[in-house]
Amino acid sequence: MTPRTSSTRNARRARPVIAIDGPAGAGKSTVALQLAQRLGFVLVDTGALYRGVALAARERGVAWTEGALLGELTAALNLQFTPSPSGAPRLLIDGVDRSNDIRTPEISMGASDVSKHPEVRAALLDLQRRLGKDGGVVLEGRDIGTVVFPDAEAKVFLTASAEIRARRRVLDLAARGISADYDTTLAEIQARDAQDQGRAVAPLRPAEDAIMVDTTMMDINHVVSQLAEIARGKGA
Ligand code: C5P
Repeated sequence: MTPRTSSTRNARRARPVIAIDGPAGAGKSTVALQLAQRLGFVLVDTGALYRGVALAARERGVAWTEGALLGELTAALNLQFTPSPSGAPRLLIDGVDRSNDIRTPEISMGASDVSKHPEVRAALLDLQRRLGKDGGVVLEGRDIGTVVFPDAEAKVFLTASAEIRARRRVLDLAARGISADYDTTLAEIQARDAQDQGRAVAPLRPAEDAIMVDTTMMDINHVVSQLAEIARGKGA
């Protein structure tokens, strides 16, 4: 069991923390955004932080394999979220909006590479806890329910088949003007799953008390309604 620390104790949280974890393409981003909007909660996309580290490292010539250097870089970066008209938060790195630059397939894999390093995870942990500490927040990622907020009031683990996740990712990238081949995307998703599930630190896995939701055959509105009901049951 993951030990509780003072920074995650929830005695004074007036509103709940909702943790949404799961693999790439399971629908986390869409579901988390719509859920946050429906509840009037803040949304924290923790994957964007790992993507930001991968992008900054590439631009500064730090290899994605160099854990110690990446840890130093992460600690020195100013990572912030700012709201956008669409509701999806934008990622600012040192004050500059890099939200589009972090969404390429290359940076997806880079985020998975940098996220293996304990130095990077440690450097991002406090920031994630600070963003969620007052509650009234939906955090989406890979280890929110297990590591970042083991005492989250509601924990959901979204899954879907790799094939449907690849199809969704191709459509998502197309909507952003990036063309991607289905077979390549499927191979990337499978490689990223293996790496995220197999890493030593904070591997992707459901928390013991997470509610499992398989979105393969589910309409997104239905998933959001189900999660909103769960969240309301926890005081949202
Ligand atoms: O969710 P997204 O696809 O943007 O995440 C990019 C990568 O960041 C993931 O493949 C994973 O390796 C890493 N990540 C993580 N822990 C989180 C969120 C993302 O390790 N809480």
